[in-house]
Amino acid sequence: MEIITSKEVPVYYNYIGGEWIESLSKELIESYNPATGELISYAQNSTVEDVTQAIDATCQSFKESDWSVNPKKRYEALLSLAQKMSENMERLARLLTIEQGKTIRESRVEISGCIDTLKYFAGAARAVFGRSIQLEPKNFGVIVKEPIGVVGIISPWNWPALLMIRELAPALAAGNAVIVKPASLTPSIAVEIFKLIDEISYFPKGIVNIVTGPGSSIGAALASSKKIDMISFTGDTSTGKKIMEMAASNIKKLALELGGKSPNIVFDDADLDKAIPIIGRSIFISAGQICMAGSRVLIQESIKDEVIDRLKDYAESLRVENGLLETSDMGPLVSQNQLDIVQEYCDIGRQEGTIITGGHRLTGGDYNKGFFFAPTIISDLESDCRILREEIFGPVLAVQTFSNEDEALRIANDSDFGLSAGVWTTNLNRAMKMSQGIKAGTVWINTYNKNFPEAEFGGYKQSGLGRTRGIDGLMEYCETKHVHLEID
Ligand code: NAD
Repeated sequence: MEIITSKEVPVYYNYIGGEWIESLSKELIESYNPATGELISYAQNSTVEDVTQAIDATCQSFKESDWSVNPKKRYEALLSLAQKMSENMERLARLLTIEQGKTIRESRVEISGCIDTLKYFAGAARAVFGRSIQLEPKNFGVIVKEPIGVVGIISPWNWPALLMIRELAPALAAGNAVIVKPASLTPSIAVEIFKLIDEISYFPKGIVNIVTGPGSSIGAALASSKKIDMISFTGDTSTGKKIMEMAASNIKKLALELGGKSPNIVFDDADLDKAIPIIGRSIFISAGQICMAGSRVLIQESIKDEVIDRLKDYAESLRVENGLLETSDMGPLVSQNQLDIVQEYCDIGRQEGTIITGGHRLTGGDYNKGFFFAPTIISDLESDCRILREEIFGPVLAVQTFSNEDEALRIANDSDFGLSAGVWTTNLNRAMKMSQGIKAGTVWINTYNKNFPEAEFGGYKQSGLGRTRGIDGLMEYCETKHVHLEID
């Protein structure tokens, strides 16, 4: 339920037990447009007591409703949400751009991704198969997939609609009850989606809830609660490590989607006309604030100068402006804090290597109102430098070079992260060798950033635990039970 204040800035409430509820704190968090600095909404600055109330309502709904044993109802509910999001597509996309800063074209892609994900998992809700097996004479095993129970979903701000739905859809499809904690920079888009959920009668009251507020208190309360059976977390690797510690309280199940430092590997036989814009887009989409950003480019030495020149031209051709403009190729960073982090990394990059282009905030005119940063490329970096090893989460591309396949593989894998990688070559044998050798959850050959609800996604090494999307993504939200029958 939205209240219009005298300044006509909407106030968003928590959604607990099927009711719109004010936080016990009576305090609000403010959300700002990162392109203009305008205040766009208030959301509840919830307390641990609010979370306790939400957990109790969710546990009760899970126990008393037929949600966990009614796949057809889950199918109808998720399909209805897909339908409602379709009907509200443009309104949601605009809000997403106003709150997060990304371009309106990216926002439409994000909302479309939500709709596609909901449709896929609506169908999957009716296909949560187990198995049966004859074990010995007169003994049968039935292997059943059951929902885990009450799931806490903690989401980040960079793709706040899709990364919430990416977890919400399979968690609900599997029959769980859910509490969402969105990021404090982007509560509006999350609560607006919950307003659509509220209109759908297939969702039993209390089966799906949202509580807004700080991660350090209410996110932590979810992660450490003994009544929460699973946490699905998408965010920074350092926060993921804290969540792991808190989850130890009741050995709760964890799904972690964390950071990355993903390489695009460009061989001298690559189709550069195709590769350059896709590699450029892989790092400058969402102003680099995307987990799978192609933040390292590994170039075969013989084509180093040509690739750098062409990437520089690409970066300098981008229109960096308010994401609401249809012409915008890149919007602002999400906040002053993110701007400071990216600027600090560029200052480090200036010492560790050579800035090919960018490296600074954009100023003058409308730029002064927002957090706009120039698309940046840095080269001449030593393998142990911070620009190559740490996730910057901004529009900063780091260049490395290699002489042969083995060296390319060694450099690509020389990272704490293992989320994704791109390989650019017209040699199929080489492509296969690289895809087998790269330690990452997704390897794209001659493309990048292509994601589908039916294809698993997730991290090797410190990029995560478990898989999201696809059948494995659904199974993350299921327990497995062996029911044994012995007949006379
Ligand atoms: P973040 O870790 O700061 O916050 C993510 C969420 O966790 C927010 O809702 C936040 O409020 C909450 N949180 C913060 N501290 C907490 C705590 N102590 N206990 C419980 N919850 C807490 O991450 P962010 O800055 O919002 O997002 C950027 C990060 O997310 C990047 O590292 C990026 O790579 C990663 N990411 C990963 C994926 C993926 O699919 N692998 C997708 C998007 C973003």
